[in-house]
Parts: sequence; structure tokens; C-alpha cells
Amino acid sequence: MKQLAEHFAGAFDASEMLTQARAWSAINTGTANLEGLAQQALVLADAFASLPGEVALMEPAPVTVVDAAGDEMQKSHGRHLVARVRPDADRRVLLTGHMDTVFPPDHPFQQQRDVDNDTVNGPGLADMKGGIAVILHALQAFERTDGAQAIGYDVMINSDEETGSLSSSALIAELARGKHAALTYEPSALPDGTLAYDRGGSGNFSIVVTGKSAHAGRNPHEGRNAIVAAADLAVRLKALGHGELSVNPARIEGGSANNVVPDHAVLRFNIRPKTTESAELFGQELNALLDDVKTRHEVTLALHGGITRPPKPVSSQAHKLFNLVRECGAELGQPIGWQSSGGVCDGNNIAACGVPVVDTMGVRGGAIHSPDEFMIVSSLAERAALSALVLSRLASGDLR
Ligand SMILES: [Zn+2]
Repeated sequence: MKQLAEHFAGAFDASEMLTQARAWSAINTGTANLEGLAQQALVLADAFASLPGEVALMEPAPVTVVDAAGDEMQKSHGRHLVARVRPDADRRVLLTGHMDTVFPPDHPFQQQRDVDNDTVNGPGLADMKGGIAVILHALQAFERTDGAQAIGYDVMINSDEETGSLSSSALIAELARGKHAALTYEPSALPDGTLAYDRGGSGNFSIVVTGKSAHAGRNPHEGRNAIVAAADLAVRLKALGHGELSVNPARIEGGSANNVVPDHAVLRFNIRPKTTESAELFGQELNALLDDVKTRHEVTLALHGGITRPPKPVSSQAHKLFNLVRECGAELGQPIGWQSSGGVCDGNNIAACGVPVVDTMGVRGGAIHSPDEFMIVSSLAERAALSALVLSRLASGDLR
């Protein structure tokens, strides 16, 4: 294994990886930019065709959202890339990334800039087009080793991770099923390469409140004020938060003219449960709260949404995978630690399927989701070597 570490440590052409990541970053792939995503998907399909398996672009699952009027509408998404290599292998691994970014085409942050000779600033470079380059090159190097035949793998690059993977979560669950382990290529939690360990979950909800309109002066007692009911909900939802769960009432839409009792409001909120238990408890408390507000304000309430990123505790099997990544790092001269993360990603969904996952295998970088987002260039080759070695160890059965 020592030999493999030495082999991989010198196996990667960082300038080729950088050129690729920069070319991908130059394509705008804000999650709603379907044209940009379509272009990116074709470019990636072409790049991943260099692997021995089959590459397919999968249609996004339909997603329904609630608009400000309280009506359900379909939200469009881009296609998701899936590459399948040796699907009949006994032991199979899942590698995932995302091609979308948080920067729409009208966002001011579109250009790349060299910060110094090892740091580039650019949209989606760290989160996570650099990570996609790491996946591709690690797999190419792995395929050139004798051990590669021992395992098969699926690669999934979705188009909607930044908005919660609503059109790809079923695909992720399907691909996770039966997998030995999974690696996700979000950038490291800290610029020094520290991995994200356990993660809380996240859920997004909308409550459509329907009351009864009336004249504010003539017959206000006949009205049922939807804004007041929504405000009451917001205050009481916030109060359901505690150390293991935070609730963020984010927006109230609706209302009417000053002389009208408003009959319509939509309240939107996000929750962050740290544990599965706190998520379940919240579900019960929410139902009781909705019943009480309905009765007290004499309004109807329609609840939409739910927890789309389940909390991600680290199972004993997942802990073994963390240890394996650390051992591989040590062999490569890369000291790797880990810490809890407040963020969420597709690693949450994979872990919820019972598959051990390390979800920050991508480049070292930072300031993601901001115009200061940066990628450390030397980490491209470094992290590709790490992944190639981890794959080799998974192929030789080290996680059992
Ligand atoms: Zn990301």
C-alpha cells in the first residue's frame, strides 16, 4: 500500500485539473439556469465518458412548490449525470457531486481571478467544480491500477444540490441502495482540509393560511385575519426551538389593503434539527400547533414541505470510513482531521440510506456561497491522490 501512496502522490497533473475546473466555472450554473446546466451536463458527460462505464443524463423528478398566492406550481430543474462502472461488481461505491452553484446569471460574481499562485477566486470553483475534477481524475488514476476491477461504482452529479436536491433525492436514494460506502465532493470544512463529520438536518416548510375577508371598519368581527394567524404561528414556531433544533420563520407573504381584513397569507420557515429525535418531536409539536392556531383564529391551514435533509449522525461504519480517509491521508503526508458541521448536503441523504459517507472529499478552499469563494490549486492533485488511495483501500476490503 505504501507503494500505491507513492504512486498516487505523483500521479496527477494539477495544471490539467485546474484548466478543467476553470472551464467548468466559466459556465454559469445557478440552480435555476437551465440553459447553463444543460451545457454543463453535456461537457461533464463528455469528460466522464473517459471512464469505462456508461454515462447517462437523467431527467429531474417533478418538484412542486407553493407560490405567494398559495397555489402549487411545478419547478423546473436540470438533468442529473449518472456514470455507472462495473454495475455487476459485488462491492460497489457511490461518488457524488453537484454541478449547480448559488450564483444566478445576473449575480455580479461571474469572473475568475488569481489571488496568488496557489489560490483562485471564482464562482463554484471550490463548491464544487474543483471537486468534480477531483472525482474524475481520481477515478481515471484508480482505473489504471490492477485493484480497480475488484469494485464497481456509480458517479452522480446532480443539478439541484444548492436548493435541497428536491429533484434528485429519489435518484440519490436509489443509487445509495446496497453501496459499500459513499464519497461526496463538497469542499473541505476548513481550508486546511478538515472534513465535516456529523451534520444536523434541514427542512423547509410553507403554511398557506386562509381566513375570511371583511371591511376593516364596517364588520371587522366577521373577518378572520390570515396575517395575524400567520404572525401567531411565526412567534410560536420560533418558540419551539431549543438546543437541538432551531426554527427560522423567514417570510410572510399575503395581506391586503389597509381597510380590508386579509384572508390570505403564506408563512415560510426553515428548521435545523441536530438529531433524528428532535426532528420527530418537532413533527408532533408542529401538528399540535397547527390544530391550536386553526381553532383559535378560525382559519384553514395547508402545510407544504418537510425535512429534505435528514440529520446525519456518524454511524460506527461511517466512523471506520473516516478513519480510512485519515490513514490514507497520513500515508500521503496529508494530516486530516474532522469536525461537526452546521451545513447540510447530499451526504445527509446518503447517510439516511444507511450508507457510510464522507462528504467533504473535494478541494480545499473556503468563503463558499460568497463572491470571495476560493480554491487552493494544489489541493486538486492532493485530494485526487487521497481519493484514489481511498478507492484502492475500499477495493482491497479495508472497511470490513
Ligand atoms: Zn456544494
